Order: sequence, then C-alpha cells, then structure tokens
Amino acid sequence: MKAVTVSARNAFAWGEVDVPTPGVGEVLVKVAVSGLCRTDLKLIRSGHRDLILPRIPGEEAVGIVEELGPQTKPVTVGTRVYIYPGVWCGSCRSCLSGAENLCSQMRIMGFHRDGGFAEYVVVPAKSLIPLDDQCSFTDAVFAEPLSCCINAIELSRLKPGETIAIWGAGPAGTLLKRLASTIGSDVVVIEPDIQRRERCNAVESVSGRLFDVCIPAVGDECAYREAITHLAPRGRLVAFSGLSAEASYHAADFNQLHYLEQSVVGAYGCAYRHGKTALELITSGAVTVSDLVSHTMPLSALSTALDMVSERTCMKIHLTP
Ligand SMILES: [Zn+2]
Repeated sequence: MKAVTVSARNAFAWGEVDVPTPGVGEVLVKVAVSGLCRTDLKLIRSGHRDLILPRIPGEEAVGIVEELGPQTKPVTVGTRVYIYPGVWCGSCRSCLSGAENLCSQMRIMGFHRDGGFAEYVVVPAKSLIPLDDQCSFTDAVFAEPLSCCINAIELSRLKPGETIAIWGAGPAGTLLKRLASTIGSDVVVIEPDIQRRERCNAVESVSGRLFDVCIPAVGDECAYREAITHLAPRGRLVAFSGLSAEASYHAADFNQLHYLEQSVVGAYGCAYRHGKTALELITSGAVTVSDLVSHTMPLSALSTALDMVSERTCMKIHLTP
C-alpha cells in the first residue's frame, strides 16, 4: 500500500509499504479520509513528546472495515467507522475515572502506533465507532478535533449563561465556538487575521472585558498571556493548545489566581465517549463542520499541505490516500 512514513524529524516520504496485518482483537480499516491538524505539523516538522519513529502519522481518520484479525468481535466487514485514535489499558486510575486519554499506557494512533496517512490502518476493534448512514466520511472525520473540544469545554465547567473567550479562529477555535454556543453561552473569538476573523465572526480584541472561561486555541505564548488577563473572578483558563518547550515555562501571576479565586486546567486529547458525543452532534447537525474544509488533497501532496497549515493559508485540510 501507499503511505506517508516519518523517518526522522522533518524527514518523511510517500511510498510503498506492506499492508499491516490485524492481530488479535484488531481490524484492518481502509482509510477514506484523514484530517490534517497543527499537531501533525508539529509532530512531523519538530517532533512530539509522544512520537516514536519511524511512524505513519495521522490521528484523525475514518474508513471502512476491510478485514478482521483473530478473535475480533463484534465487528462486521464493510462497516463505515470513525477511529478513536487512542489505545488504552482500561484498568489504570485514569482509565477507571473515564479519562483514558491520560492512560498510563496510552498509545495514540499516529504517535505511538501507525496512523491514517495511508491506504490502510490497523486498529483495535474497541477503538471503532460505527457511523450513521446519513453521516458522510468528510463530516465524520471532524469527530476527533471536535472530541478534543468537548473534553476542553467539559474541563472548563462552562455553564449556560456564562461568558467564554477563545483565542484563534482556526478549525479548533471555530469548533470550540460552535460547541460553546450549544451550551447557551456568550462566546467571543479573538483573531488577528482579518480573513479568519470575518469567516468566524470574530473580533480583533476584547480590551477591558472579563470572561468566565478563556481558551487559547492557538499554540502561542502571547495568546496565553492575554487570555489569563481576561479571566473574571472564579474564571477558568484552559491550557488547550500545546506550546513550544521554551514558551511553556512562563509564570502566571499566582497572586491574581489567589485573590480572584481563578484556576488553570489542562486539556489534552479526548476519551472514547467524547467521540460518540461528537458524532451525535455532527450527525444531528447541532454542530456544523462541512464549511470548515478549505482543501481536499491527495496524501502525496502532504508537504504542500503542511506548508499551508504552517502559513495559516487554509482552514481544515482533508487528505485522501
Ligand atoms: Zn489505562
């Protein structure tokens, strides 16, 4: 089969590799569409804490079950599926608390094990979520980024009627905005780029305003610094986007947190149940996603696609094998 293989930091190739064989409890999925996100850019160009090389990247993928490994149940060949990208142990403290994304033995597709930037991918049957007939592959592949947003909003403890500010009107910021709106919250998105601002109905600045929840949806130190200054008393800052190692260590004003009883909470990835919720929101139309796709490109054009993500000249890019 054809696949993208990352061999070293910023070194990858599109070429022929063996079709993987599903093991016990696993299935072979024929990939229909993969989503490209900023995490892939970071992972391929700069490396990532969880990346083990060599690796086929791609943590956002949907497709059709092609073949079953031994003792695999209860899955049927031909089922259209979304793949929850994590493989979790099910018995550690995090797993037992419903946060399998923090599993001590977590293995993420595209990071620890091969992902969806290929014609086929092997995944455990328990990671699959079947798609409703009316849900297209191109919509369903948004279940992964939307799941991460659901996790972040859950952790923010956002309540109806509260105010929320989101920094960045890219795909993640836009999904967070739409999700927060379904809760009945007053949402503001802050975006410096005029085109993205207009698309998302965002604003350039929110000087003087305070919010119950602030979420930087852009891996930028300045966005974090700004977000924390806009927290209302008892406000919650969600550390949703990863930062570079250098930018990650900057002190928050702990006296501000102390006097105003504010908190900071991290959000990383998503649990399996978030995938089910995300697909329900997408299938029912509660959160629209199709307008976020700016480009559909073949996987062989990954290098060009990564440049576009890097230069922010796109919204969501879908890749097809
Ligand atoms: Zn676990």
